[in-house]
Formats: sequence, C-alpha cells, structure tokens
Amino acid sequence: MRQETAIGNMPATALARAEEKDTTAPGLEVEELSHRFDHRLVIDRVSLTMGRGEVHCLVGPSGCGKTTTLRLIAGLERVQQGRIRIRGRLVAEPGRGLPPEKRRVGLMFQDFALFPHLTVAENVAFGLRHLDRAERQKRVRRLLERVDMAAFADRYPYMLSGGEQQRVALARALAPEPDLMLLDEAFSALDTALRTQIREETLAILREAGTSTLLVTHDAEEAIRAGDVIHAMLDGSIVQSGTPSELYARPADPFVANFFGPVNSFRGRVRSGRIDTPIGAVAADGLAEGERALVIVRPEGIRLRRATAGSGRARLVDRRDLGPIHLIWLALADGTRVKVRETGILSAAVGEEVEVELDPRHVFVFGDRA
Ligand code: ATP
Repeated sequence: MRQETAIGNMPATALARAEEKDTTAPGLEVEELSHRFDHRLVIDRVSLTMGRGEVHCLVGPSGCGKTTTLRLIAGLERVQQGRIRIRGRLVAEPGRGLPPEKRRVGLMFQDFALFPHLTVAENVAFGLRHLDRAERQKRVRRLLERVDMAAFADRYPYMLSGGEQQRVALARALAPEPDLMLLDEAFSALDTALRTQIREETLAILREAGTSTLLVTHDAEEAIRAGDVIHAMLDGSIVQSGTPSELYARPADPFVANFFGPVNSFRGRVRSGRIDTPIGAVAADGLAEGERALVIVRPEGIRLRRATAGSGRARLVDRRDLGPIHLIWLALADGTRVKVRETGILSAAVGEEVEVELDPRHVFVFGDRA
C-alpha cells in the first residue's frame, strides 16, 4: 500500500497532482507567507519568486526570520498563512503541505551534519534508498567525482577536513536531484579562502544542474558575490529585493544602505526642503517639512579638496592607503569623525584642512524612525 504522508489532511499525492507539471514555472514562489511563534509575528507577508537555476540571497540581522523562512519552505514548519510553490507545484498552504522528503528540496546548514558512523559513500547514498543498488552506486560515484571527493569514498567524516566534509555534504544534498537548494550559513564555518572557493564551486554545480538556490548569509560580500538577487529582511519582512547593484544604487532602507560597508550617518530636520548636515545640506527627497531625517553618506560619496586659506570645513586626521584606494578619516569642528574613501591621487595629507563636496549618488535620505 502506498503510504500517504502529508502535513494536515490532504494526501501528498493529491496535493502534488493538484498542479500540472509546468516546465516554465519559477523555481520557487513564496506568496504572502506569515508565521507566528506563541502569537508573536516573526514572518510578516514575505513574498519572493526565484527563476530556475538562479541564486538568491536572504540577508538580515540575527533573529529577523531568515531560518524560519527556510524551514517553512523546506517543510520543517507548518505554513500558517500564505502559499509555497516549487516549480509550479503547490507544496504548502495553511492546513496542508507535502512532507519535506516529497518537496524535492536539498538543505545544507552550517554544521554539515554528516552521519559519523557512515562512510563518505554511504552518506551520499543515504537519500537514494529508492534506487536499486547498481543505480545508487553509479550516482554516488558520479557525485563524488563532481565534488572531487571520489578518492575519499571509504573514509569516515572524522577523517576529513572541514572543506572536504562540506563537499561531501553538497554531494549528499545533490544526490536526490533537488529542484531547490536551501543553504543556511552553509559556508560560515570555513576559513575565508576556503569559503570563497567552496562557495563558488558549490554554486557553479547548482547553476549547472539548473537548481534554484536560496542562500541565507550574514556575510555582505558573500551575498554580493553570489546573489543574482538579494532579499533584505528586517523584523520578519522583506524590505527590498533586487540585484546587488540595484540595492547599492537605490537602498530602500537604512539597513540596506549599511549593508554595503561602513557609512556616515547624520540626523537632522527638513527645513525649506533641505536637511543640514555637518558636511553640507542635502535635498529632503520627498520628506515633509519639519520631519526628522536620517542622512546616510557613503565614504565614496565624499570628495575632498584642499582648503583655500581659512575655508576648511574639516581636518584630515588619519589615512590608510590600500593601493589606489585611500581610506581617510576627517574630524569636523564639533568632533564628529567622517569616513571617506578616495580613489586615484590622494588630494590631501594628514593634518591638512579640507573642504568636502557630496556626491548625491551616494547620499540617501530616510525618515528617522529612531
Ligand atoms: P539568525 O541569523 O540568528 O539565525 P534568523 O534571522 O534566522 O536569525 P530565526 O531563527 O528565523 O531568525 O528566528 C526568528 C524569530 O523567531 C526569533 O525571534 C526567534 O527567537 C524566534 N523563533 C525561532 N524559532 C522559534 C521556535 N521554534 N519557537 C519560538 N520562537 C522561535
């Protein structure tokens, strides 16, 4: 007898049958997903759509709901509100959902959680019990070759380095040929050089397989380098989704503006359509007269000029030269420190008075909620 395992009262086969196999449907569609733990709203109307083979990154501060979103998609939490479709197949809605093993989803977490008592080959074969022995062995061999671990097939996890274990975890996650891969801080435990290498290899394999990948990361550089699209999440909501360059050029929230590295922040009030900051006035950009504003200026948005006699606005107090890039700290008359990033020929020396000019492309104005 076929076993029907589904969350809620809808049989798994009926739910899967409910959607025609659609070869053009997006890799993942999350529609208005909300979730509460003990009446506390932790996911608030999250929607996102991923194309097939795309890599999307979910970024946000600790506790904003990233892991919960992944767990809902994977089927490890029941959906309370909203819908989830994978390749057009409805996999979860309130009261019913396919169990995790029927969603064709691969999962990789920071702790690779290889089974310690199984060899590398047995770990990879774990999710392939439905295949006959010869077929299973063939697929394990192919996957271990793909992640460059064929020579380690008979070793146990404790005999492997962190990077090698990560490769095996990837082979194990890929073995059932998932439609969607969910990676939760999957590379964080590796040291910097290895993290970049393993991440790039992993994503290349996933893209090649046409597997859509949702990657949760704290690491801005990782998100910028890996993500076709970044979803910035705060307090359970996605505040902005876009390519890294869209988020860089037009951040919709101070968190997004901060995401790309250290910034200068100034608070002020809108007066005659402008906000005064210690380094110059900026346009109030849609804020109402008298409203409190937060002005964020990227270090690369400040240009320096040597002051003409008595005209200086700031003193250059420190600089670090990183090849063609100069990181500069200014002190303003009121003691405020300002970070500047200059490229090309450094225009002033430590101790000199400088005038500053703002580049509006790197200046962002938000209503001040603090
Ligand atoms: P981090 O980056 O630190 O892993 P996150 O963005 O992944 O954080 P979640 O783990 O999704 O955040 O948690 C979101 C919120 O839900 C947090 O406030 C957390 O304490 C709460 N939470 C998560 N799981 C449960 C649970 N099983 N029961 C009650 N509250 C939970």
